[in-house]
Amino acid sequence: MADGGDAGAGSGVAAGASGGVPVQPQERAMWWDERVDFEAAFLQRLAKYVPSIYSSEMDPLLEKQDEMAQKIIFDPLEWYLFGENPDICLEKLRQSGASQLCGKVFKGGETTYSCRDCAIDPTCVLCMDCFQNSIHKNHRYKMHTSTGGGFCDCGDTEAWKTGPMCTNHEPGTANTTKENSECQLNEELMAQVKKMFPSIIKYFVDMTIWEEEKELPPVFMIREKTDHYYCVLFNDEHHSYDHVIYSLQRALGCELGEAQLHTTAIDKEGRRAVKEGPYVSCQEAKEEIKKHSENVSQRPLHVEVLHADVMAHQKFALRLGSWLNKLMSYSSDFRQIFCQICLKEETDSEKPCLISMLMLWDAKLHKGARKILHELIFSSFFMEMEYKKLFAIEFVKYYKPLQKEYISDDHDRSISVTALSVQMFTVPTLARHLIEEQNVITVITETLLEVLPEYLDKNEKFNFQGYSQDKLGRVYAVICDLKYILISKPPEWTDRLKVRFLEGFRSFLRILTCMQGMEEIQRQIGQHIEVDPDWEAAIAIQMQLKNILLMFQEWCACDEDLLLQAYKECHTAVMKCSTSSHSREKTVLQLCGHTLESKRYRVSVDPVSIHLPLSRTLAGLHVRLSKTGAISRLQEFVPSEQFQVELLVEYPLRCLVLVAQVAAEMWRRNGLSLISQVFYYQDVKCREEMYDKDIIMLQIGASLMDPNLFLLLILQRYELADAFKKIMPTKDQDLTKQYNMLIEEMLQVLIYVVGERYVPGVSAVTKEEITMREIIHLLCIEPMAHSAIAKSLPENENNETGLEKVINKVATFKKPGVSGHGVYELKDECMKEFNLFFYHYTKTQHSKAEHMQKKKRKQENRDEEALPPPPPPEFSPAFSNVVKVLNCDIMMHILRTILQRAVQLETHLWTEAMIQMVLHLLCLGLLEEKQQLEKAPEEQVTFDFYHKASRMGSSALNAQNIVMLLEKLKSVPQLEAQKDIISWILQMFDTVKRLREKSSLAVAATTSGSEATKGDETQSTQDKEKAERKRKAEAARLHRQKIMAQMSALQRNFIETHKLLYENTQETQGREDSVMDEESAPLAIDYSRIALGPKRGPSVIEKEVLTCILCQEEQEVRLDSAAMVLSACVQKSTALTQHRGKTLELSGDTFDPLFMDPDLSCGTHTGSCGHVMHAACWQKYFEAMQLNSRQRLHVEQIFDLENGEYLCPLCKSLCNTVIPIVPLQTQKINSEDAEAVAQILSLARWLQIVMARISGYNAKNTGGEKQNAPSSVSKGMGEFTSEFHSILSFGVQPSAKYSSSIKEMLVHFATTIYRVGLKVAPNEADPRIPMMTWSTCAFTIQCIENLLDDEGKSLFGSLQNRQHSGLKALVQFAAAQRTTSPQSLIQKHLIRLLAVLLPDLKVEDTPSILDVDMFHILVGVVLSFPSLYWEETVDLQPSSISSAYNHLYLFHLVTMAHITQILLTSATEFPIAQSQDDSEEAQTAESFCREFCQNTSGCFSHDVPGWHLWNCVKKGITPFLRCAALFFHYMLGVSPPEDLLLVSKEGEFQALCSYLSLPTNLFLLFKKYWGTVNPLFQRWCADPAVLSFLKGKNISIRYPRKRNNLIGLPEDYSSLLNQASQFRCPRSSDDERKHPVLCLFCGAMLCSQNTCCQELVNGEELGACTSHALHCGAGVCMFLKIRECKIVLIEGKTRGCLYPAPYLDEYGETDPGLKRGNPLHLCHERYRKLYLLWQQHCIIEEIARSQETNQIFFGFNWQLL
Ligand SMILES: [Zn+2]
Ligand SMILES: [Zn+2]
Ligand SMILES: [Zn+2]
Ligand SMILES: [Zn+2]
Ligand SMILES: [Zn+2]
Ligand SMILES: [Zn+2]
Ligand SMILES: [Zn+2]
Repeated sequence: MADGGDAGAGSGVAAGASGGVPVQPQERAMWWDERVDFEAAFLQRLAKYVPSIYSSEMDPLLEKQDEMAQKIIFDPLEWYLFGENPDICLEKLRQSGASQLCGKVFKGGETTYSCRDCAIDPTCVLCMDCFQNSIHKNHRYKMHTSTGGGFCDCGDTEAWKTGPMCTNHEPGTANTTKENSECQLNEELMAQVKKMFPSIIKYFVDMTIWEEEKELPPVFMIREKTDHYYCVLFNDEHHSYDHVIYSLQRALGCELGEAQLHTTAIDKEGRRAVKEGPYVSCQEAKEEIKKHSENVSQRPLHVEVLHADVMAHQKFALRLGSWLNKLMSYSSDFRQIFCQICLKEETDSEKPCLISMLMLWDAKLHKGARKILHELIFSSFFMEMEYKKLFAIEFVKYYKPLQKEYISDDHDRSISVTALSVQMFTVPTLARHLIEEQNVITVITETLLEVLPEYLDKNEKFNFQGYSQDKLGRVYAVICDLKYILISKPPEWTDRLKVRFLEGFRSFLRILTCMQGMEEIQRQIGQHIEVDPDWEAAIAIQMQLKNILLMFQEWCACDEDLLLQAYKECHTAVMKCSTSSHSREKTVLQLCGHTLESKRYRVSVDPVSIHLPLSRTLAGLHVRLSKTGAISRLQEFVPSEQFQVELLVEYPLRCLVLVAQVAAEMWRRNGLSLISQVFYYQDVKCREEMYDKDIIMLQIGASLMDPNLFLLLILQRYELADAFKKIMPTKDQDLTKQYNMLIEEMLQVLIYVVGERYVPGVSAVTKEEITMREIIHLLCIEPMAHSAIAKSLPENENNETGLEKVINKVATFKKPGVSGHGVYELKDECMKEFNLFFYHYTKTQHSKAEHMQKKKRKQENRDEEALPPPPPPEFSPAFSNVVKVLNCDIMMHILRTILQRAVQLETHLWTEAMIQMVLHLLCLGLLEEKQQLEKAPEEQVTFDFYHKASRMGSSALNAQNIVMLLEKLKSVPQLEAQKDIISWILQMFDTVKRLREKSSLAVAATTSGSEATKGDETQSTQDKEKAERKRKAEAARLHRQKIMAQMSALQRNFIETHKLLYENTQETQGREDSVMDEESAPLAIDYSRIALGPKRGPSVIEKEVLTCILCQEEQEVRLDSAAMVLSACVQKSTALTQHRGKTLELSGDTFDPLFMDPDLSCGTHTGSCGHVMHAACWQKYFEAMQLNSRQRLHVEQIFDLENGEYLCPLCKSLCNTVIPIVPLQTQKINSEDAEAVAQILSLARWLQIVMARISGYNAKNTGGEKQNAPSSVSKGMGEFTSEFHSILSFGVQPSAKYSSSIKEMLVHFATTIYRVGLKVAPNEADPRIPMMTWSTCAFTIQCIENLLDDEGKSLFGSLQNRQHSGLKALVQFAAAQRTTSPQSLIQKHLIRLLAVLLPDLKVEDTPSILDVDMFHILVGVVLSFPSLYWEETVDLQPSSISSAYNHLYLFHLVTMAHITQILLTSATEFPIAQSQDDSEEAQTAESFCREFCQNTSGCFSHDVPGWHLWNCVKKGITPFLRCAALFFHYMLGVSPPEDLLLVSKEGEFQALCSYLSLPTNLFLLFKKYWGTVNPLFQRWCADPAVLSFLKGKNISIRYPRKRNNLIGLPEDYSSLLNQASQFRCPRSSDDERKHPVLCLFCGAMLCSQNTCCQELVNGEELGACTSHALHCGAGVCMFLKIRECKIVLIEGKTRGCLYPAPYLDEYGETDPGLKRGNPLHLCHERYRKLYLLWQQHCIIEEIARSQETNQIFFGFNWQLL
């Protein structure tokens, strides 16, 4: 509607501006038509009007400009195009021509969805709408936040395996094409389009790429050139916001606000005019800005001086682009014609086509122009598959220059045209086409080869020292394109594809050649290196390349010839790199009769590099050769004489030695950079293409070399040959340690070479088996969360780990509790797969896993703790020779030497770890032999490990074989822990021996099969025995477990049933609760359980002895001793509000807190953690803290000492005050006296006396200090003055005498309540102090009652300990506080309170009974009533009997008022169903109601049935009665009836009534007192406010009040994201990214962390959340940051904390920040926990706790949230 109005108003403007042009658009169209040449007419019109439309660039009125452009140019254009009303025509088109592709372009921050089950690759995404309407909604989807510039793939059949389109984009549905789809435009229209588009597009292109600053094409220079210029500032990514603002202020001398405005616009649009005027002055401004910006940053800002007309046309061109963009969405024909024009190459011209021109110009355009250009490409080319292909071809044609432009550009990738590559390269058919026809792999790699040379050093290797991170980051984008192109493997290969691919591969090898051996390092000796070299760049490139390397290998493996060809190429490249090595010198190593001749090289001396991508690629291709069997043809491609396996092994081996030497701390002086590189070398992010491949290369070496020579080479390179030749007589401890470490490292690598076979090709394993093994080994360390496992597994090119497929085979899921996360536990049957020397374990993981597994085995009562390796899978044929390493001479020598050193106790020459590895190798050897023997006849098994190991190694006298050494080792005390494994090995020797003997026997005597079976039998009986033992142990374990479970269940039950006992005894031993008393002493049960009136039961008083948590001393709580205090926290609260969002008084300077509004909109809550201290101890503690903080001025505290905050010394809860503990005063009633008094003291009499007393006071007051009288009392009261003192005659007693220290604390606490509750400066003398005391007492009770009811707990008996002691102290304090204020003041308050109930008192401004909360009144009058007994000369208080009556009558009065309140407000709605209930209560109610009608002059309907009234009253009053029971119990200490201790609600009402001396039929109360109450009742109802309510003019609170809850959240998190995506900031209309935040109290959606929604509160800028919290939660609030999936708790302006949102993925994990993006579902338990946090008033506590643990949030400015 608003739009229409504006348009109407705007037409006048347009007409005015366009001068003599006809007003009607149709006419204009005709006017166009008179011209033959459309282009000329079009341009002329633009020349005429564009400069005037866009004339004011300094302060553009965007809407007005748009409107004028529409009226003057687009309307006629559209009329001309369609020949009729364009709106009608477009609507027709829209209905018929929508595309089946969604094509929505994402803005930064928008949520995108991908489907892990169906997406071809992770770059395929859906927009929110499409996702919600697609089948993927129920698949394993991922949510992500777009960085902007992406594109919804809905409808693209190549992007999805299933469900390529959502219901909206499915053909045949309502909003899309009908049968004759792709609606053909009629020919007339087509002709118009073909006529008009070329001119329009040409203008758009020409102006977009226009470079002249001062001139326009001649056709536009129709009038005389004015000297009107703009100084235009451009956006870049180098200058920060503040830099630009600063430069502008300096250069232009403008205000901060203006500079900010400019800067924001520049950041958003990309450019903006900052000054206008004649050329000279703009030029000056330009120089100034450049100069000033250069000062702050190295380079100047980009500024241009543009002529006003140039600026106008450029601006209009963009507007035209948007117009085209809109038009594109209507028809496929529009798009096709557009694309054709854009692609048309001018004949015999070198110039690229229009679209390529725009692409090539992209990097020169400003942000706003780029955005429009890219959107146009999306909406045209990308919506038509055929043209997308043609576009892609153009894109690849100019790929190199485009990327180069991008690399030197200073804008983000998301706004570069190069970012479009992902849209094309990931489409499988398109990728294949581009490879075949455009040779795109080679194009990309050559681009890399052209941009990387600046990093080449003299050896033609890359060297990234001193690189620019930004620039290199841009190079990654090119690498990424390579990944996109390779992401889907072609299903079939054409010859052309093979040729092109191989060409690309060759080119890629050239990049790898530059990396092979790059960034060599040399060991630093003596001096530490001065500067750590840059290593990140090289490692980062390695990471980027990891999956590309793997994909290349996979692509190669698709075809045997291709693989062999690629292998040959790669081999040649490796050889080229290897032979160029410097040293030609040779060394000779001899050991055990074997000789190795090798090149002289030492890792510890010569340069070494960790980067060997060529060697590793070759290793990768090698295992693929082995896997496919193509290895048999290798000879044809690489003749064996050229193969040179030693050279291939050399470099990876050096790398492994480097790792060993780093571990041995030999490279300490090379600094941290090396440590980091070694870390990444083995880390999951890199290891597949680094460490793993190096191990494979060693395995290749071991399989092709003589085993002895192989081991000699290893010894040589580890520089350990000497260590195994002779005993090194060294005294240098460091050196021995170093040697030992190196030996350990070498043994470990040998274990890996022989034992690690989990690679397809090395053995016949599948990918699933590999993943399973990785997971098993991770879970052997500890149970892990899904995300933790995923993080520890390598990701493939699609970011998948394959985890989900196998996890349930090896592990069981354990659900999380209310906190923490779900974990996977290893299945028991998988434990046997555990390999202690798993090659992906880090050192810590290794020892943790060992510890864990030993512990597990111990728990299961296994008789041994040995952890032998599981039998490894068999090597595939190409690798079968590797096992020969195990039984070769050198290996035997190594093993024997180490064992011998251990036996000879040459302590410094061996370590336990070393022995462990030797034993592991022995296990591997024996297992291998056993496996071979089991498979083949003995004589065919040449693997003779057993034989070699039991042979003497030398002829020396003391020579021993390995078996003998092992026997001796058993007695070495240091090796106690290895005993089990040694026994296991010895047993294994036996087994192998028997296998050997058995099979040889079997051969010798073919008939004696019995022997063999016997052997088997002994084996099996052994096994059986073992199994039996195990079974028994297992049974015993289960039994024990069962008993333990039973016991703990019993214990739990006991605790449950005796919870009270437990809680009470646990903490303070001296204190015994009154409730407790009864349970432990059921005999003394007989006293009355009535709290009020003459039948009042005795106070159960116990001697209270408390222990101070600070000094640990005990003290009895007494009136006259030093005060003890309870730590406490006072806070404002809206937890009970019935009127959320009501404007709260932010400062209480003038606020009158005496009456609580019945909506409880804001109260003051006092909570305690229940910890007791001496007042003196606490004061000392607090002072010490103050002193401490003063000394450390700059350390931020989490608590605000100024406001009395501190952390409880015991539990670290945040507190801001202490409650003094005041003992309960004993009150006993003599029942006879009580009876006597009852005779005289009726309610009427009591009222009379009270009135007399009050009017007496008033008389006195008005006589004395008139001006201070709060109220005027009617003269009619005068007659009671004679009875002024009669109140005293019913019993008085002296007031309690509190020790001075207690008094002091009473004042202190009361002042805190006042200060916090009203947000005012402390003032001990303020008259509102007692009011606040009563108020917090009442409010806190109401909060607790509400909570207990919500949790379904009993009123008494289920209070938490801290609630119990807090409440007790609070009520006692509230009763005692009166004594520290002037009694006349209390009296004044009392009179005002009573005036609500007793209208006769006629106090001004008394609210009607509908406008107050009755429980607050009750607490107030009961606590202030004793002030009536005060006499100036003596300090008196009512006696027990007096009190009993006072309480009774006050309570009855308030109750009757409350019933009236309920009837008036809550019993008005008529029930639909008729009930037959005709109880006594119903009858009384009905008759009472009749009275009621009369008194309300008929406003209250009398048709309401009695039973309904009764129901309403009963329901409505229960919370009040429960609160009253709590209050009187804690005040008087009278034991409550049993029924109130029970959870069941059945007897509750009756028990409440009995405890509070009420008839269960509450209406009888009125009957009983009718004479007295009737006049009161009439006055209540006659109150104007009540009458106006009854006439329906005001709304009021209904009873029972509704319980507050956190807002309902959807089950599925994506619907919240959906909500957020529709969020529009209420204050600004731009499309900038917003941070929508949801208030969980009220459901408001706020625009957080954004300047647009900041609010000025008391002179301070507050963010939307912070200012909302002030109203919604009195400063404390709970929000959900939707995009981040986090909960925010805030308090005030300075504090807050973040929490994961209560949403869990299927693995029981939260996902703060939506980093993993798994589907999330609401966890009700966790949400409930947040709710309780709120209702228990623990948010502040939680914030303090979290701030204490996560110190990082200090830096955050919560104020602006
Ligand atoms: Zn979509
Ligand atoms: Zn869709
Ligand atoms: Zn799916
Ligand atoms: Zn103490
Ligand atoms: Zn505490
Ligand atoms: Zn709110
Ligand atoms: Zn906003």
